[in-house]
Amino acid sequence: MKNLGYYNGKTGLIEEVTVPITDRAFYFGDGVYDAVMCRNNIPYLLFEHVNRIFDNAELLGIAPPKTKEELSFLITELCRLVDGEEKFVYFQISRGSGIRNHEFTNTKANLCIMIKPQEIKNVYDKVDICSANDVRFHMCNIKTLNLLPSVLSAQHAKNNKCEETVFVRDGYVTECSHSNISILKDGKLITAPADNHILPGVTRAHLILACKKYGIEVIEKKYTLDELIDADEIIVTSSSKMAKGVKRVDSRPVGGRDERNLRLLQEEIYGDYIKATQNKKIGSF
Ligand code: PLP
Repeated sequence: MKNLGYYNGKTGLIEEVTVPITDRAFYFGDGVYDAVMCRNNIPYLLFEHVNRIFDNAELLGIAPPKTKEELSFLITELCRLVDGEEKFVYFQISRGSGIRNHEFTNTKANLCIMIKPQEIKNVYDKVDICSANDVRFHMCNIKTLNLLPSVLSAQHAKNNKCEETVFVRDGYVTECSHSNISILKDGKLITAPADNHILPGVTRAHLILACKKYGIEVIEKKYTLDELIDADEIIVTSSSKMAKGVKRVDSRPVGGRDERNLRLLQEEIYGDYIKATQNKKIGSF
C-alpha cells in the first residue's frame, strides 16, 4: 500500500479511513499521540515511544485500548503493509467518543494510526530557524493533540523560509514547535530542563546519552535567546529529523565553532538509527 490509516481496527488508505464526529479528539483534542521512524519495517525506538504515549495517557486519565505489547505488535505488523524502506508512523489515543460534553465519557479509548513513506534526508545540512514567544499552555511535557500554537509557529517558520521556530518563554528558550533544542558551549551541552515547558524528547534523551558516551558534560538549565545566538553550535533534535545543526537564527549567522562535537553527536544519533534498523535478512544480496 502507498500509505495506511487505521482506526479502531479498520484499515485503508489514509485518505479513505474516516473518524466519527463523536471522537473527543475531534472537538477537544482530548488525546495523546506519538510518532516514530521506521526503516526496513523496524520501528526505531518503539519501546521508548510506546512507553511515552502510555505515560502521557496516564497523566490525562486515559486508559489505552491495548496493552503496550499489543500496540507495539500492531504498529510493527501495519508497517509491513506499507511500501518503502523508510516510513513515518503516527499513533494517537483519544479518550473515547460521545455527544460533545466537556466531562469525560465512559467509552473505550480510540486508537488511530497513520503510516506513510518518509525519508530522513540531509542529516548533516544545517538549517535556519526563527524565534517566537512561547504561547503554549503549561502542559508541554504531555504530547497532547492540542497543537494550535505549534501549527501556527510551524507556519511562521515556513513563511520565513525556516525549518523550525524556537520558542522563548519569560526570556528563556524552551524548545521548538516540533523538536527540542540544545546548545554546545565551551565543549558542554546545555539543554532546557525537562519540566512542564518542554516535551522530554526521545532524541533529546539520546543526545544526552551520546554526550555522556563522549565525555561531553551535560548541563540541564535555562538559557536565553542571546545565549542561543552566542552558542558554539545549536542542535535541534526530533525523531523524524534526528539532530540538525543550525546556521541562522532570525537571519543572524550562528554556530560553526564546534563542528567536531556537533558531527560526532549527529553521527552517533543517526548511526544508531541506521544500525538498529539494518535489514536483517540473511543471504540476500
Ligand atoms: N518537542 C516537541 C514539541 C515535539 O512535538 C517533538 C516531536 O514531535 C519533540 C520535541 C521531539 O521529540 P522526539 O525526539 O521524541 O521526537
